[in-house]
Amino acid sequence: MIPTLIQDLGEYSGSHLFIKREDTIPFSFGGNKARKAQLFFEEIDRGEYDCVVTYGSSSSNHCRVISNMAAARNMKCYIISPEEASDETYNSKMMRLFGAEITVVPVEQVHDIIEKKLKDLRNKGSCPYFIAGGGHGNIGTQAYVSCYEEIRQYEDVQNIHFDYIFFASGTGTTQAGLVCGQLINKDERKIVGISIARKNPKGRQVVLDSIHEYLTENDVLISDDNIESATIFNDSYTGNGYAKDNNKIEKTIREMLIRYGLPLDTTYTGKAFQGMSEYLKERSITDKTILFIHTGGTPLFFDDLGGKL
Ligand SMILES: *Cc1c(COP(=O)(O)O)cnc(C)c1O
Repeated sequence: MIPTLIQDLGEYSGSHLFIKREDTIPFSFGGNKARKAQLFFEEIDRGEYDCVVTYGSSSSNHCRVISNMAAARNMKCYIISPEEASDETYNSKMMRLFGAEITVVPVEQVHDIIEKKLKDLRNKGSCPYFIAGGGHGNIGTQAYVSCYEEIRQYEDVQNIHFDYIFFASGTGTTQAGLVCGQLINKDERKIVGISIARKNPKGRQVVLDSIHEYLTENDVLISDDNIESATIFNDSYTGNGYAKDNNKIEKTIREMLIRYGLPLDTTYTGKAFQGMSEYLKERSITDKTILFIHTGGTPLFFDDLGGKL
């Protein structure tokens, strides 16, 4: 993959801010789900699979990207979706356009219905490939170990060092990949995942589990102490979780669009950017070099603010 752009935004909150534009990955509005999906589909293309099964809400960027990549290959995509988050969005409209078959069920039934769908497909002689919600798992983690390597190469070429890396943390896969990259390279810096919904200790534990799973599979030995201290999952800025009415975030989104021409959304990137901004202020952090990772989700910008800019 061609490394995504790192853009110099200049002075911000007394520090020097850069932004890595994962939203410009050239497939289906990009984003971290597109980076992960490329690796999943490399495996699909090597195998004998004839359809894909995954899980996500109607606003899921993951489900949009997966159903788009499947459609581009003429493959059927089956999405199991929780009825608790099934309002129509630009993402769900696109899933339909891509011909995905969406099964809406109460959230507590999701696991069983996925198992049933996989079994039914196999019984019919089909060979489904299952992708966990959000692209969770070692392949998703690998995608962000690679992203971390891109960041290091940029630092090498530009002769700079990012003291902090901030981004929106959801299922924790993106964060697990970045932290594994840091641990493998023994780099000194703070990688701060801003939780968009999950609370600690559970939220952070999921990240730790993903890190251990990845390091074990790849036979990398790193002490628990080092893993513990590298994993910063901040749950102070979750607001009302995946729900979206937050005036402070909307104000930040408008300002960022006007000042930098940068679209953010209230669920992920806008919330993380707002969280980063408060994190820096609360701790009086200045004179640092900071990287914010724009993890994508551009269609959500229109759901959030399209009607009320
Ligand atoms: C899914 C998502 C995240 C969170 O990524 P995880 O790997 O699940 O932590 C962040 N930003 C956007 C735009 C997303 O779609």
